[in-house]
Amino acid sequence: MAEQIFPTGTLMAGKRGLIMGVANKNSIAWAIARQLAAQGAELAFTYQGDKLKRRVEPLAASVGSDTLCDCDVTNDAQMDATFQTLKDKWGKIDFLVHAIAFAGKDQLAGSFIENTTRDGFKSALDISAYSFVDAGRRASEIMNDGGAMVTLTYLGSERVIPNYNVMGVAKAALEASTRYMAADLGPRQIRVNAISAGPIKTLAAAGIGSGRHMFRFNKAAAATQDNTDPMGVAGAALYLLSDLGLSCTGETHHVDGGFHAIGMPQEDALKASMEG
Ligand code: NAP
Repeated sequence: MAEQIFPTGTLMAGKRGLIMGVANKNSIAWAIARQLAAQGAELAFTYQGDKLKRRVEPLAASVGSDTLCDCDVTNDAQMDATFQTLKDKWGKIDFLVHAIAFAGKDQLAGSFIENTTRDGFKSALDISAYSFVDAGRRASEIMNDGGAMVTLTYLGSERVIPNYNVMGVAKAALEASTRYMAADLGPRQIRVNAISAGPIKTLAAAGIGSGRHMFRFNKAAAATQDNTDPMGVAGAALYLLSDLGLSCTGETHHVDGGFHAIGMPQEDALKASMEG
């Protein structure tokens, strides 16, 4: 793939914020981080455990950041420490990017009704939905009025996607949480939005059964007849997190090549995708 060049400018100059969910250079959060940095934002990052630190540290350094916090979102002490670090370093922040999701591999295949366990359900909802409520509350306590938050969701919240299963339920909870958070924080002009991205090749996407079929079908059925470009997702995040997004809150914004708008794919494109 050609090197991505993120448009530079000053839309985020003077703004500081936290990026949660960079695992490697393919992470959606990393595309967003690069776009925000290219527009002048100062960034802090979370990672999970030493293995991930080794990957995230050089990426953070490449956008001028040395603020990294070890943070498993299910660990209250680490969440406390993360937001305390930001408070000590900056006093206030302006934005939060939440790009975190998890469900056990056994929960992401086959029959939803047969395979979804109580523990699997709880942990998917905890890590993939509640963590945004929790991080959003903590962020709001040190956020300047007029700040903004963004989370990442997927169409599996609205429609049945094979194998997405309990993660679809978690994403529905995440989108509803986005609306409630937007209402609570709206009087402070803090905006809270979700980006519903089409499939992108990342570690998280690799955990979902039938990945190859998903990418081929999406390419055939999207209005653009192409897969989703992470640069488009990063551009949407820039709009929602900068002052360009004023008055936009409580929204789930689709960045998926128009896949969500299509009722029936074009016959030729579908045939080609199934044969290819
Ligand atoms: P990714 O690079 O694998 O990022 C997922 C991140 O979640 C990783 O950094 C992962 O860290 C983190 N995470 C999982 N459990 C965690 C926990 N308990 N505490 C802290 N961090 C945790 O994959 P991605 O595709 O960019 O995913 C980012 C977001 O985009 C997710 O919400 C995903 O559902 C959403 N999304 C993805 C797609 C897609 O097709 N890729 C489409 C729409 C929406 P570890 O690696 O350490 O577990």
